[in-house]
Amino acid sequence: MGALGGAAASGVGFDALAAAAKAKPAAAAKSMEVKTFKSGCSICPNFCGIQGNVVNGIVKSIYPDAARAEVYNHGICPKGAAGMYNTYDPYRLKKPLKRTNPKKGPNENPGFVEISWEEAFSLVAERLRKIKADNPSKLVFQWGQGKYLIGDTNLKAWCGAFGTPNGVHRTTLCEAARHVADELTWGYHGHLPDLKYTNLLLNFGANYHEGEQTSRWLDWATAQGRERGLKTVVIDPRLSGCAAKADEWVPMRPGKDVVMVLAMCKLLIDAGTIDEEFLTTCTNSPQLVGADGKIVMDKDGKTPLVWDTVTNAAAAYTINVKPALKGSYTVDGKSVRTAFTVFAESLKDTTPQYAEEVTGVPAATIARLAATFAKEAHIGEFKEIDGVKLRYRPVAAYTFRGLAAKEFGVQNSRSLLILNSLVGAIDGVGGLLLHHPNNHPEYLEPAKCDYPPKRTDMQQTVFHPNSHHNIGQQTNITLLDPKSWGLGYVPEMQIFYGTNRAVSTSNAWQQFEGMAKTFNVVIDIVMGETAWYGDIVLPDKTYLESWHNAPAKTSPELGGIVAAIRQPMTNPFNLEQDANSIIFELAKRVGMRDKYIENLNKGWKLKEVTFKPGRDYTTEEQVATIWTDKTKKDFSYAKQHGFVAKGKLDAKGKYLHGVDPVFKGPGKPKFKLYADHFVGTYEKVEQVTKANNITRIDLPKYKIAYAPLPGKEHAFPTPHREAKDFPFYLITHKLMHRYQSGNTVNNAITNQALGSGLDTNYVAINTQTAKQMGINNGDTVQIETRVGKVKGVARLTQGVRPDTLAVSYHYGQWSPGYAPVAKQGTWINQVLELHPDVPSGMNSFNDTKCKLTKA
Ligand code: SF4
Repeated sequence: MGALGGAAASGVGFDALAAAAKAKPAAAAKSMEVKTFKSGCSICPNFCGIQGNVVNGIVKSIYPDAARAEVYNHGICPKGAAGMYNTYDPYRLKKPLKRTNPKKGPNENPGFVEISWEEAFSLVAERLRKIKADNPSKLVFQWGQGKYLIGDTNLKAWCGAFGTPNGVHRTTLCEAARHVADELTWGYHGHLPDLKYTNLLLNFGANYHEGEQTSRWLDWATAQGRERGLKTVVIDPRLSGCAAKADEWVPMRPGKDVVMVLAMCKLLIDAGTIDEEFLTTCTNSPQLVGADGKIVMDKDGKTPLVWDTVTNAAAAYTINVKPALKGSYTVDGKSVRTAFTVFAESLKDTTPQYAEEVTGVPAATIARLAATFAKEAHIGEFKEIDGVKLRYRPVAAYTFRGLAAKEFGVQNSRSLLILNSLVGAIDGVGGLLLHHPNNHPEYLEPAKCDYPPKRTDMQQTVFHPNSHHNIGQQTNITLLDPKSWGLGYVPEMQIFYGTNRAVSTSNAWQQFEGMAKTFNVVIDIVMGETAWYGDIVLPDKTYLESWHNAPAKTSPELGGIVAAIRQPMTNPFNLEQDANSIIFELAKRVGMRDKYIENLNKGWKLKEVTFKPGRDYTTEEQVATIWTDKTKKDFSYAKQHGFVAKGKLDAKGKYLHGVDPVFKGPGKPKFKLYADHFVGTYEKVEQVTKANNITRIDLPKYKIAYAPLPGKEHAFPTPHREAKDFPFYLITHKLMHRYQSGNTVNNAITNQALGSGLDTNYVAINTQTAKQMGINNGDTVQIETRVGKVKGVARLTQGVRPDTLAVSYHYGQWSPGYAPVAKQGTWINQVLELHPDVPSGMNSFNDTKCKLTKA
């Protein structure tokens, strides 16, 4: 399916929206009135603190809130500074709309008619009541970037009150595989490099100067670090924003990271430049592994055995035991090896020369980087901070989406955690700092592998056993044939809040097919593609128009944020409702208001100031209730300051809250260099698959995905193995001035405001490659994959590998409800193959292969 055509493209029958677009904002007051508002940006998950300057009710400028510099952001990005354009976008939705044409498709004119809020609430509530009485699971509530507006907590509380398990958010479209790799390795997720002390940062495809979580702290901390001599090396097929600012750019072939990382691991092990103390005491490296790949247990069946070098026998790791890190032994007549030895031996063939062949990075470069990483790690050294003697390891190998957005995203991401662990750069000064290790001990056990599934997104089922973060792209695929996934019901209705999921997902047209099968209610600020498939469309307020309990980030130096808010600065279109008030009203009309209130109290963990049953709450009252309970400060403080932060961490709080107290020494759980629980998970998958005759599961692939150690096979995703006639690697990325397609942050309008050239994207082609193919700058080119074809404009650059094409996301949108500027550029997701990572369900955005021709 190509560009939108026919009636819809010409906007026929789109009168309601077109008329609304011409409506003038409310007249400003005559007298001069200047106000400033402390609030938070919601355009991306950096949640920067902002100050809005408002003259006569019009937001004239947005600056960083200077008070947040101590906490997180010293500045804001161009999107944040231009954020008011989303609010003043004349293409905003202003009235509820009802579809009159039941057929759904890109070329189907929905025949939207304006309706009153009363009619909209009544229609939606009636349908919800019927579904709730029949089977609440038949309702799916999907949210995306919008969750940052009113928060996951409210949405989960609402779904819980309704009784549907189907609350689905977006993490598998961003970074889920990295989180799951963390969880399966050290029991929780989230890590950052300790850039205050890091001297060498190896960045495998993290793109934080352009668009990523924690970007605004990473930007600032990297710049500060460079002032004192921090070196950064970026390993990425494309000269990203981070690569352009780095000391060295290593253009690696897409998808092959794991091989380069493992080759570096081999070099470190062969050279003996590893932190044996850390590996032996904090990781499961010394645990003994049997021929079945499982850890050998003591007689109790649950205590791992190590080889005690004192008694020269297998033993549980207790106070007097000194475990051997390496070696092969015999226990009860059976050969066993330490997990570390299993890992070291698995790397036998992963030489730098082999890595050069696979990754395109010269063996000498890999060897140099490994040696420098080891040297700069200062293995064995300590640093005293605040009178505390701490492990000093000022190196970090870091990634975000680079290693995650792959078919083997968990394994790729795990390889990097292992590289850091080899030199002890985990929770050491200057290394990777982990967020609450072992917070979820169950993540270090085999997964449950539920079947049949309860949820439409297959979370934590046999299909994606470790998907703890929902699976954003799955619901619309399930809808195509629910029975074949074992789902015991057919979903009837979807609510979409602040997400344009189908556009944001690989193999995007498949998503729209799924969406066409349900009754859809869409809460958003503009008529995006999701709303085009809506039956009822409800206009939301932007983050400059409404109250929110705002998520907020901090640096690793601080204990976190107690509470933060966003507050309304303007309301140019006199909108009546926001997402929060919409779902509250629906809860009331469905007869579940008090249950929703009860769930809000539980979800927000309110203790003293709580929501009371039997009454309504405006959005401001909701925000004030939560604020007051969390901060114990009057709401007037929130209006004046916008946030309250926890204090600065001392050295103990920063470095000694995690790995050392949780993993170090005898009798404690361990950082899993060797993922023995993967063996147990695979066994369950096999058992459940065979017992239920599940044909959708390809067991050999699951076996590879659940190998207990990352290996070279994880560098060969399906398209790399199968699409042999497609010579180019196709990768995708975000841009600083463009972030996501969720319409609560309507980038198209912002980009137009930011200047020419930013309102479209290009196909980045290596200059030499393009010349050989007779392609010039500005030529129209065609990209063809096994999924489809799309056109784009060539941009010749030395900043991409000769065998790779790079295209940014979220351009070329097709909904007739957008400003025309949104439709420029290439919507690349429609031609990407989707082969989700098995454990996490993560989308494989960077694995597709393609052909390139001059159009
Ligand atoms: S868009 Fe993101 S990085 Fe930019 S100001 Fe807003 S929250 Fe900060």
